[in-house]
Amino acid sequence: MNREEVAGLFRNYLKQKLELGEKTIYKPFDMKMQEQNIVEARSLNIDEFDKAESLDELYQAIHECQKCPLGQSRTNFVFGVGNPDAEIMFVGEAPGADEDRLGEPFVGRAGKLLNKILGAMLLSRDDVYIANILKCRPPNNRDPQPEEAQICEPYLNQQIKVIKPKIVCCLGRIAAQRLLQTNMSLGQMRDRWFDYCGTLLMVTYHPAALLRSNKYKRPTWDDMQKLLKKIEELK
Ligand code: URA
Repeated sequence: MNREEVAGLFRNYLKQKLELGEKTIYKPFDMKMQEQNIVEARSLNIDEFDKAESLDELYQAIHECQKCPLGQSRTNFVFGVGNPDAEIMFVGEAPGADEDRLGEPFVGRAGKLLNKILGAMLLSRDDVYIANILKCRPPNNRDPQPEEAQICEPYLNQQIKVIKPKIVCCLGRIAAQRLLQTNMSLGQMRDRWFDYCGTLLMVTYHPAALLRSNKYKRPTWDDMQKLLKKIEELK
């Protein structure tokens, strides 16, 4: 197919999306993606996911997503795990190799440390909800690309709408910068409360940072105490 033909198909695809009442049109990355999107527009129920009223419905609507190239390279779609009625939701950046293999967020070394942090808060993975901005693993654990995050964030957003946590806690700078649409440093974002689409949001260190240096442990613990205190205040 030449460039003209792909452009023609893409115009039809945009027209179809508009006719279907789609509000958001994502910019594909390259010509190959344009073709993939055309296929995806027919096979994935693009309008369903933001109407999902339960996590199961949402999972069914999105778990075969091929809206970006990570859909092709993933082993598993890493949706999220935990209590669907959680008061606290932890959000990381993207699945790593272990998460991709097992289909569950935070199951590798960083995840084991997150479990320990939760234990110290007298909580377990079943009390909170854990998810990532990206549902598919970026190759070689590189940072999520803006286009990938732009496509995937609405899925997380819908998870938040369904779960209605009292507090979203971003693990690390990348997740926080994405949700807050900011370039602030982690230091600037910590120890503050933000509003993410009507939900309270706070930021702390990614557990992987704690694995690299002990100096982040104390401030992370301070953040977790503040989180628990805020949950109490909100009762
Ligand atoms: N790091 C993340 O940000 N998310 C995971 O699920 C695992 C590691």
